Amino acid sequence: AARSDGRGGVRRYDPGMRAAAEAARELEQELRGALERGEFRLVYQPVVTLADRRVTGFEALLRWASPRLGPVGPDRFVPAAEAAGLIGEIGAWVLREACTTAAAWRRAHPRAGDLTIAVNVSAAQLTSAGLVDQIAVALAESGLPAGALVLEVTETALVRDPEHAAASLTALRALGVRLALDDFGTGYSSLAHLRQFTVDVLKIDRSFVSTMAEGEVMPAIVRGTIDLGRTLGLEVLAEGVEHDHQARLLAEGRCDSAQGYLFARPLERPDAEAVLLEQAACPGAAVPSPRGPRP
Ligand code: C2E
Ligand code: MG
Ligand code: MG
Ligand code: MG
Repeated sequence: AARSDGRGGVRRYDPGMRAAAEAARELEQELRGALERGEFRLVYQPVVTLADRRVTGFEALLRWASPRLGPVGPDRFVPAAEAAGLIGEIGAWVLREACTTAAAWRRAHPRAGDLTIAVNVSAAQLTSAGLVDQIAVALAESGLPAGALVLEVTETALVRDPEHAAASLTALRALGVRLALDDFGTGYSSLAHLRQFTVDVLKIDRSFVSTMAEGEVMPAIVRGTIDLGRTLGLEVLAEGVEHDHQARLLAEGRCDSAQGYLFARPLERPDAEAVLLEQAACPGAAVPSPRGPRP
């Protein structure tokens, strides 16, 4: 369609924009019903301690294999699901699936008895009325102790509606779940947020970790985040660790834990379980060498 530009001429829509709008519509259409059709699954990325490289938990990451569109990444479909009002039911499924899996692992692997599972919660989920109930149900149905569940929220999600978000976090803490601030440092006025929103874990964003070059000192923002976390008594976790020198520097700097391709990519469920089995078989061993399918 075209419309008048008000000067008697006709302004045509940019074909690129039209294509983008059509792609967005198609994405939304495919997203509807994707849950019922069983097109979602979770993959699990190990979280390791930097001091001895043992797996203490996993982050659940959502994957969507659309028969028509092929694999679509969460960076694309989560915002689309939010916009289409679908994130509530998808998020509820993620919570149930992640809690059930973690509870089963904790039962099956005695050495994994205090394993944690982290689940990402988007802005729309955080301020939706149903979240606290969804979590309570997921915990009750799976038998997972609340303390084993970590909810990852971003600063961006918190600042979108700070009052509402603060109330949600308080309600979630009352359930006994742990809270992590994801992508820390990428939002703005992080310090102010830490006073307003009480969390348990700071996750240093991958963009800062990736600036850690071989033979150089710790970038100020990474150093600062670790110190801040220690001062506040929080666990500090570095995302996106890809190189050994980064892991060593972070360990020396007393960052607690890490995730990243150096240790493991997000793994399919059986592969994640194999990591637990291997760790149980050789208790002293570090996390197995980098492996697993591409994310
Ligand atoms: P995030 O929570 O910050 O997740 C970290 C992302 O970094 C993941 O991408 C992970 O696969 C990737 N990653 C991990 N280690 C490395 C590394 O060493 N190098 C590099 N280059 N990348 C690494 P993914 O799985 O594509 O997820 C992207 C984002 O989508 C997540 O960012 C999260 O915000 C969102 N997301 C994923 N699953 C869910 C979900 O179940 N619900 C919601 N609401 N959001 C989700
Ligand atoms: Mg995350
Ligand atoms: Mg992150
Ligand atoms: Mg990130």
